[in-house]
Amino acid sequence: MAKQDVIIIGAGLAGVAAAHALRERGHDVLVLDTHPGAGLETSFANAGALTPSEPEPWNAPGVHWKLLASLADPHSAMKLRLHALPGLIPWGLQFLANSTRKRHEAAALANFALSRYSLGRTQAARDQHKLEFANLANGTMKVCRDARALEPARQASQALADAGLRWEILDRAAMVKREPLLADVADQMAGAVFYPDDESGDAHRFTQALAAIAAGMGVRFEYGSTVDSLIDRAGRIIGIRTATEEIEADQVVIATGHASRRLLAPLGLHIPVRPVKGYSLSLDMSGLNDRPALPVVDDALHAIVTPLGDRLRVAGTAEFAGEDRRLRAERVENLRLLLRRVYPALAERLLTGDEKPWCGFRPMSADGRPVIGETRAKGLWITTGHGHLGWTQAMGSAGLLAALMDGETPPVPAEAFSAKRF
Ligand SMILES: Cc1cc2nc3c(=O)[nH]c(=O)nc-3n(C[C@H](O)[C@H](O)[C@H](O)COP(=O)(O)OP(=O)(O)OC[C@H]3O[C@@H](n4cnc5c(N)ncnc54)[C@H](O)[C@@H]3O)c2cc1C
Repeated sequence: MAKQDVIIIGAGLAGVAAAHALRERGHDVLVLDTHPGAGLETSFANAGALTPSEPEPWNAPGVHWKLLASLADPHSAMKLRLHALPGLIPWGLQFLANSTRKRHEAAALANFALSRYSLGRTQAARDQHKLEFANLANGTMKVCRDARALEPARQASQALADAGLRWEILDRAAMVKREPLLADVADQMAGAVFYPDDESGDAHRFTQALAAIAAGMGVRFEYGSTVDSLIDRAGRIIGIRTATEEIEADQVVIATGHASRRLLAPLGLHIPVRPVKGYSLSLDMSGLNDRPALPVVDDALHAIVTPLGDRLRVAGTAEFAGEDRRLRAERVENLRLLLRRVYPALAERLLTGDEKPWCGFRPMSADGRPVIGETRAKGLWITTGHGHLGWTQAMGSAGLLAALMDGETPPVPAEAFSAKRF
């Protein structure tokens, strides 16, 4: 049986970032993934936002009413599918139990600290390795149609100001100055909140570029290779099994996103991470001179429009539907509708029928914080459960994981993310 220092299962954002961080520290790393390349599952066509400004978990106080109402509303931003309900117990109960104001605020603070640290590491890797991923450092803007929506956005931002979040309320004129293409709809907006430190870019290109750098540093990637089970010797994980081979390792890292449960459950480990489906639409902007300058978040629709070089990405919606991979027409239509509401003139030009719809599963933990660290099985580590923040937190989670694996003081408080909290 071959022997390895560290095996990472999963070459999405979490796995590739972990491989890079561990290799930087001198570990001998092998990454296995079912897909034929890096970043082809949930990390493929996400909204492209690096947003420490959005650390709030999606189980905000009152979420149960929204989910109940969604059963009857095909267009609601958050959608619960009746057929998925049995599979959501007990995860769903934990998700709801964590929606108290106190827990929600504590999770937002912990997520903010990790996201901020993560953005710094993302910028450092970009600069060091000259990574190309249509990166923009122009901030993000959350637009509010209703003056009543501005107040909660202001309060949420203020709650993070002491932790270091910079933000600014913009009136209509200031909003249009930042994003001139919003001029057409300015009279429908009450204003916006601007977050100057947020960034954006193409997460898939970033994953691929970082994987190439990691490979150049000596990380081995074995694509087209599915891990069927973990090898357990007296409570210690000592390797992995695929259909064709067994590989021993000193440490194994699970970075399998929403699919983590499949490898963990046979060991009796129940880490509450479930898929929450989201959609995106990618549009060709190559013939366009006037392009959006920065990502615009429409809070009411849980959706965002992000310029990614020659493409425009519209993404969002949260569907609690288990692992149902169907691209539902009405959810895709919601994204077209959003684009029409935010940039009517752009929508007119870009919605030609050639736009590319996609859906993916956010790996969402029941308490809205990622799961990073050693599990209750010795030698088995995990980094998943990042939900809507998987890119924002990827590089920081990798830095935290690598420090923990090397027995060092964590760079951000680690207890909030511990795999042993469940
Ligand atoms: C619509 C949408 C918009 C989003 N927008 C943003 C955003 O703007 N900003 C942000 O920060 N986050 C965003 N996210 C979230 C982010 O994309 C995810 O959190 C992130 O991609 C998860 O990365 P991951 O590496 O954990 O999982 P994945 O990318 O799913 O990677 C897991 C990998 O593990 C592999 N795998 C699984 N099981 C096995 C096995 N048994 N053997 C071998 N390989 C296996 C899979 O093939 C896969 O490649 C969005 C998500 C969605 C759906």
